Amino acid sequence: MNIGRGNLTSLINGNEIAQNLRNELKEEIDDLKIKTGKVPGLAVVQVGNVAASSVYVKAKTKSAKEVGIDVFDHHLPEETTEEELLKIVNTLNNQDKVNGILVQLPLPKNINEQLVLDSIHPEKDADGFHPLNVGKLSIASHNDENLLIPCTPYGCLIMLKSLGVDLSGKNAVVIGRSNIVGKPMAQLLLKESCTVTIAHSRTKNIDEVCKKADIVIAAVGRPKMVKGDWIKKEAVVIDVGINRIKSEVEGEIKNKLVGDVDFDEASKNASAITPVPGGVGPMTIACLLRNTTIAFKNKNQ
Ligand code: NDP
Repeated sequence: MNIGRGNLTSLINGNEIAQNLRNELKEEIDDLKIKTGKVPGLAVVQVGNVAASSVYVKAKTKSAKEVGIDVFDHHLPEETTEEELLKIVNTLNNQDKVNGILVQLPLPKNINEQLVLDSIHPEKDADGFHPLNVGKLSIASHNDENLLIPCTPYGCLIMLKSLGVDLSGKNAVVIGRSNIVGKPMAQLLLKESCTVTIAHSRTKNIDEVCKKADIVIAAVGRPKMVKGDWIKKEAVVIDVGINRIKSEVEGEIKNKLVGDVDFDEASKNASAITPVPGGVGPMTIACLLRNTTIAFKNKNQ
């Protein structure tokens, strides 16, 4: 069985799909403002100065403001203790103007990440990582629109749906079983009635497992691990990976972003594929804004 989109490989344009979602959210937030006199509020908490985290926080803040979400920035010093951070989260949990709380990961080593994520009120869980929301996702009915779902896998699902194909009964292989991508991705695909396989570092003959897939979602963190010949003709490939590698460009060594999939090779077989960058990344941010808006609506409607 293939996904049935003919012979041309299409590029799944995350920038464009994310822009459409942001436009829809902006309209919805304008409407909500008229109806309730309020707009959704997102608290963004960053501890320390990890360069990649600062880039993500800046991008998330900018996008949130653009769609009309109020952003409350809490940039804390590296030396912040677990107790201090928990206290701040608790304060945000009790602030009416804050509908979503995002704690940017990774946190410094002295802080227990899971403890902090668990301390976020489940109704303000903008990332969808709280155990209650994880549980709700796994038992949710098909059309549950008010769930707070982890942003990256939900963004992947929106991209798959943008292809207009029926996902029901398709063989989907998710490579990676992290709590933030792999596992919730598998749950979402299961909800769409895919037959789901989760592969990971102990999976045997992973290339053979992938070759059976109509849909491959790679969330590993290993540059170009998924080779072209792992991809069945006309499968759809979503590449979540973001890896920084050194690459020679016109005699100069430069930093380059690549995914977990060998894009050039996989494109020869796939019917549709996401690029890196410009694929999953922008969708993750757009879905964070979506969750914040859902949290607002859950409280105010
Ligand atoms: P984790 O490191 O938490 O998980 C990686 C998963 O890959 C693990 O389940 C691991 O298996 C599996 N794995 C590692 N090596 C292999 C291998 N050789 N063969 C098969 N499976 C393997 O990563 P994340 O899920 O957090 O992120 C994955 C990638 O996605 C990263 O590149 C990250 O930067 C990117 N990412 C991108 C986002 C975006 O917005 N575009 C958002 C979030 C992440 P095991 O469990 O057995 O160790």
